[in-house]
Amino acid sequence: MAKYESCRIKKGDTVIVLAGKNRDKQGKVIRVLNKKDRILVERVNIVKKHQKPTQTSQGGIVEKESSIHTSNLAIVCPKCNKGVRTGIKFHDDGKKVRVCRRCGEELDR
Ligand SMILES: [Zn+2]
Repeated sequence: MAKYESCRIKKGDTVIVLAGKNRDKQGKVIRVLNKKDRILVERVNIVKKHQKPTQTSQGGIVEKESSIHTSNLAIVCPKCNKGVRTGIKFHDDGKKVRVCRRCGEELDR
């Protein structure tokens, strides 16, 4: 039996947002947060934060990525060029790879 819970999104994956105000935006995963259910995606879900001037910085508006819940994200298959569900495939040498469940393309290289 394939285990689907282990096909988690990893740093460096290209993902697409499935819901919310950033829907259909794509970006690269820059960080998976400690709890593993929230992810920072490059240039997606940007929030502007006002920073007060300190002794070391001038302050002003800082743009920062805000995390997105994994349930709102899907890995983009390069072959399908869209967000897909992923599965796990085992190679003969026991190596575990994530695959696109739509076309079978391997997503780990
Ligand atoms: Zn695919």
